[in-house]
Amino acid sequence: MIAGNLHKIAGSLPQGITLVAVSKFHPADAVSEAYDAGQRVFGESRVQEITAKAPLLPADTEWHFIGHLQTNKVAQLLRVSNLSLIHSIDSDRLLRMVDREAAKIGKTIDVLLELHVADEETKSGFTVTELEQWMRDRRFETLQATHIRGVMGMATNTDDAARIRADFRSIRSCYDRIIHEIAPDLRRFDVVSMGMSHDYPIAIEEGATMVRVGTSIFGERTY
Ligand SMILES: *Cc1c(COP(=O)(O)O)cnc(C)c1O
Repeated sequence: MIAGNLHKIAGSLPQGITLVAVSKFHPADAVSEAYDAGQRVFGESRVQEITAKAPLLPADTEWHFIGHLQTNKVAQLLRVSNLSLIHSIDSDRLLRMVDREAAKIGKTIDVLLELHVADEETKSGFTVTELEQWMRDRRFETLQATHIRGVMGMATNTDDAARIRADFRSIRSCYDRIIHEIAPDLRRFDVVSMGMSHDYPIAIEEGATMVRVGTSIFGERTY
């Protein structure tokens, strides 16, 4: 079932879009099944879980962290081998902590800055205004061990497709302003991570370069 789902979704994505298979709350066996079907990039949202699963998969598996990251878990997360991208940097303070801890262990880590555009208090991240100001102030210049690869965001959790589309459009247009106007000298700032199982087709239409799909690949999660 996992292989079938994966082939269907991967086959429907336009060229150049990275599929992150979100395996949180699913056992390593399920991840292995997806790996055997050809998937190499997996997303996890809890430090403990990624720490436990990563060693069980082959060395060419790429791990992305997509969940809320607590500052006291940063050091542990950075020690996960094959951790290739942190999507969920939601504050300058967290970014500084990741940078410091990565420098300490001699690692360079790619990250995305999380944008809050959804109409929900529960979601975290920079507002569009905050992130654009942050870029204008060139706060990235002092980073030593962190490379900002782009932005990540979530749409409002709603059935209103127009609202979802508007949220994705805000994320993409913030990215476009940064790369075209505010900080055109940023290197390899090329990722727009948005879209989940129920809304990734809209995200792609609105300019996602990376989608994070869990349920449609692995089935419902049991928490
Ligand atoms: C769980 C999660 C996903 C995947 O959600 P599905 O609805 O299962 O596809 C994507 N992004 C983030 C940040 C998540 O926490």
